[in-house]
Amino acid sequence: VLIRLLDFAFLTFLVWLVWSQVVRALRAVHPAGARSGGRAAEARAAGGGASPDSGAGTVTLVRCGACGVHVPSGRALPGRTAAELFCSEACRARGARPAS
Ligand SMILES: [Zn+2]
Repeated sequence: VLIRLLDFAFLTFLVWLVWSQVVRALRAVHPAGARSGGRAAEARAAGGGASPDSGAGTVTLVRCGACGVHVPSGRALPGRTAAELFCSEACRARGARPAS
């Protein structure tokens, strides 16, 4: 009985070993199937040499509080408060004053 149990354990180990190899091979053939690896590759491809402000399609336009021109958030000048954004120093100086 003990030998049969050992045989069963060994057989289970063999099955697990083969199965893990099969899964590894499948993931190598289909990179998209490997969730973690695929996401890491996509993150590297998306973040390679492209900052959030300069990346195509990821530019956020903000409206100048003084003249209404839309400028990329990376180029906008912050006003007195975080909600205020201006396109230039002139607009910031103009927008800093209360509109009359
Ligand atoms: Zn402006």
